[in-house]
Amino acid sequence: MEESFKCFHCGADNGRNSLSCPNCKKNLVVARLVCIDPFENIKEGTVIDLLPLSYSIGRGSGNHITITDKFVSRHHLELICHPAEKYFEVHVLGQNRQKFEKDTYRLFDDAVIPIGTGSFKFNYVKSA
Ligand SMILES: [Zn+2]
Repeated sequence: MEESFKCFHCGADNGRNSLSCPNCKKNLVVARLVCIDPFENIKEGTVIDLLPLSYSIGRGSGNHITITDKFVSRHHLELICHPAEKYFEVHVLGQNRQKFEKDTYRLFDDAVIPIGTGSFKFNYVKSA
């Protein structure tokens, strides 16, 4: 998975560790997840900022977003960013596929992503 990207304001290289560009100081967050149904380790209302990168979500600690929930598998799903076209899609992994009509779907504003017993709401950040 790609771990760096170019700032869309100034073109400087950025990585997963910075939510704002060290060169031009502008915000790099392109989308957000808001927890609307809590998990064991994530409270309702928690906001997770997303950079234009892909994210793995699951119970294992090797994921970018770790969720503690007995109904969440080790590699549960992935959020895949398409930076050029400016959208994210969800890839449902493993046995979780049975619960969804498709194993890949595009995310639109206010999409609800159910994961185990909890869920997130997804929104794009409108660039200023
Ligand atoms: Zn920049």
